[in-house]
Amino acid sequence: MTRILIAEDEPAIANFLEKKLRKQGFGTKIAADGYSALYESLSHNFDLLILDLGLPGKDGVEVMEELRGQGEKIPIVILTARTEVKDRVAGLKGGADDYVTKPFSFEELLARINLRLRSRQAVTPEPETILKVGEITLDLHSRTVNTGDRNIHLSNQEFILLENFMRHPDRVLSREELLNYVWGYNYDCDSNIVDVYVGYLRKKLGRDAIETVRGVGYRLRTG
Ligand code: CA
Repeated sequence: MTRILIAEDEPAIANFLEKKLRKQGFGTKIAADGYSALYESLSHNFDLLILDLGLPGKDGVEVMEELRGQGEKIPIVILTARTEVKDRVAGLKGGADDYVTKPFSFEELLARINLRLRSRQAVTPEPETILKVGEITLDLHSRTVNTGDRNIHLSNQEFILLENFMRHPDRVLSREELLNYVWGYNYDCDSNIVDVYVGYLRKKLGRDAIETVRGVGYRLRTG
C-alpha cells in the first residue's frame, strides 16, 4: 500500500485529507508539528509527504531542508497559503517536488500526488542484469560475456552454466547441482556432460577460471 504522511497542524484540513486519501486507497498518518513530520519522514515508512509550511515546532521549510540535507529523497508536495507563495516558493526550489496553494481542491492535490508517485517509480533502477566476478562480466540482458576486454562467445548451455557459477561465486557447486540447473532433473545422472562443459568453459575463459574440488564439484575462481 502506498503510504502518505500528512504534515498539517490544522485538524480540519488534516482530517479532511486523511479521509479523502484513504478513500483513494492510500495509507495515511498525520503529523501535527514539524518535529514529528521530520521524524516520521525519516522512518522510511512513507512514499510521499504532504507538507504544510506553517507548522509549529519546525516550520515546513526547515523540515524540508533537514530532510534533503540528510539525503532523504521522499517526494514532497507543499501545502501553502496563497499569500505565502511569492515569498516562499523561491526557497522551495530544489527541495520540494511540487506545491499546492490553500484553499485547494482535493482533485488538484490528488493529481499532483499521483504525478509525483509515478515519476518516483520511473527512476527506480532496473533489476540487476550484469554479473561480475573477477575479470568476468556476464550480461543477462544482452547475453554477452567478457573477460577483461575480450568478448567471449558461449553456446546457450555454456552461458547458463557460467551464469550459475557467477551467481554463486566462491561456492563449490556439485556436479548434480550444475546438471540440474543447466540440463534439468530428467537428465541421465551418470553422464559426464558437466565435466565436458566445464572443459569448454575453461578453454574459453582460461584453465584456471574454474577449479576442481576433488570429490565435491567445481568452483569459479574469484580472484
Ligand atoms: Ca498550518
